[in-house]
Amino acid sequence: MVSLVNKKMRCSEHHMEYVAWLMTPIPHTKTTTFLTRAALRTGHNRLNHHMATKLKLVPSPLCSCGKNQTAEHILQACPYHSALRDTIWLEETALQKKLYGPREDLERTARFALQSGLTI
Ligand SMILES: [Zn+2]
Repeated sequence: MVSLVNKKMRCSEHHMEYVAWLMTPIPHTKTTTFLTRAALRTGHNRLNHHMATKLKLVPSPLCSCGKNQTAEHILQACPYHSALRDTIWLEETALQKKLYGPREDLERTARFALQSGLTI
């Protein structure tokens, strides 16, 4: 019984460290570009949908436009980011290519994430 309590304590401490890491702003570097891409690919990111539904750290999963704030929403559909999207991708580009495409597409995705001002 004691070990179960201790295990729960360790999981709770680990969770809090994870939460603290998620909430810490990270300067933009090649490493953070890689991490941003990984976060967008996996869904383990700081967008509202994940923060609200999985981590219970924000009250709503919604974007300020009213839709679920997911990577797909931000990269493909959010009206608040359409002007930035249009300057970075000159033609309609599939989500698959933005997340898994050639290097130039991945660099565009990282630039979009940075310039969007969102914490991803
Ligand atoms: Zn939106």
